Amino acid sequence: MDYYKILGVEKNASDSEIKRAYRKLAQQHHPDTGKGDEKKFKEATEAYEVLSDKQKRAQYDQFGSAGPGFGGQGFSGFDFKNVNFDFGGSFGDIFDTFFGGGQPRARKKGPTKGSDIEMVLQIAFEEAIFGVTKEVEVSAYQACSHCKGIGAEPGTELKSCEDCSGTGQQVKLQRTPFGQIQTATTCPSCQGAGQIPEKKCKECKGAGHMLKTNRIKAKIPAGIHDQAVIRLAGKGEAGRQGGPQGDLFLHISVAPSKHFERIKDDIYTIEHIHVLQAIMGDEITVKTVHGDAKLIIPAGTESGNTLKLKNYGVPKVGSAAKGDHIVKIKVDIPKKLSGKEKKLYDELVRESKLDIKPQNKGFFS
Ligand SMILES: [Zn+2]
Ligand SMILES: [Zn+2]
Repeated sequence: MDYYKILGVEKNASDSEIKRAYRKLAQQHHPDTGKGDEKKFKEATEAYEVLSDKQKRAQYDQFGSAGPGFGGQGFSGFDFKNVNFDFGGSFGDIFDTFFGGGQPRARKKGPTKGSDIEMVLQIAFEEAIFGVTKEVEVSAYQACSHCKGIGAEPGTELKSCEDCSGTGQQVKLQRTPFGQIQTATTCPSCQGAGQIPEKKCKECKGAGHMLKTNRIKAKIPAGIHDQAVIRLAGKGEAGRQGGPQGDLFLHISVAPSKHFERIKDDIYTIEHIHVLQAIMGDEITVKTVHGDAKLIIPAGTESGNTLKLKNYGVPKVGSAAKGDHIVKIKVDIPKKLSGKEKKLYDELVRESKLDIKPQNKGFFS
C-alpha cells in the first residue's frame, strides 16, 4: 500500500498537509456518516498513523513498511462498530477533538438533573384491565434536607476545589490509534461542581444527598398493556447542585390469566359446544372479564367459527371505548351413543339420503 497515494499527498508533504489530507478523507469516509466507505477510512487512518509519526514515516520511506504490526494487525482488527466517539458533540467536533482544534467537553458545571430509576412492576391480569393504584418502594438518593443538597453545613461557605482549580474537570492526554486525544473527566473531588464545602454538612457528610427509601403511589390506568412504561416525573434520584430530580420509570409486567387470553384490547376464549347445539343453535352463558354474558349460537355454527361479544373486552387506555370478547367455537362430537340415540341417528342417516356406510355399530345396539 502506498500511504502517500492513499492520502493523495506528495512524498515530501509537510505534517500539516498530511493532517489536512487525512482529515478531509476521514470526514468523507467515516462509517458514522452513513455514506462513508469503511475500507477507505481504515486505509486512510492506517496511512495517517504511519505518516504522522516521524519515526514510522522515516522507516516507511526507507523500507516501504512501517515495521511489523502494520498493514496486518494494526488496523485490520479494529472494529469501528464498537468504537464510541462520545465527545458529546456533532461529527465535526470529533475531528476537532482529534486534532486539538476544539476544547474537550465534560459534564457541565452547575445544577444537573438527577438520574432516572427503572423498575419492573408486576401486576395481575385483572389489575391491568380495570386499573389499580400500587405502592412501590424506591430507594433513591434524595437531596439532603439539612443542607438543601449543597453539602455544606448551613451558615458556612463553599471554596474553590484545589484538585481541578475550580473547573470541575480533569483533562488527560490519551494515546490512541488516532494519535493523542484529550479527554476531560469529571473531577472526583468536587464531582464536577468546582467548589467544595468549607465545612461538610454533618447530616450527609458533604455529599448533598442521602439514600432514602420512599413509598410512592403509582396509578396504573385501566387497560394498560404488558411491557408498557409509566413515567413518574421527579420521582428518580435527586439532582446535583439543586438541579431537578430524575424520573421513575415503571416497566409494567402483566401476569397471564388462567381463563382469558388477551391480544391488545380484545379477550379470547374457547367454548366447547355439543354437535346438537351447533346444528340447532343455542343461547349459552360465557364467562367474561366483566362477568357472565349471554351469547347466541346461531344454528349451523361450525367448529372454528368465532362469535363476538361486543364491548366485553379491555377498556382502551384513556378512553371510554372497550375492545371485544371473541369466542372461538369448538364443536364436540359425542363418542358414545345410547341405544335410542343410535336408532335416531340411523333414522337421520336414512332421512338425509346420504349414501354412507355407518361404522358406529354402537355399544348398546
Ligand atoms: Zn447535607
Ligand atoms: Zn474539583
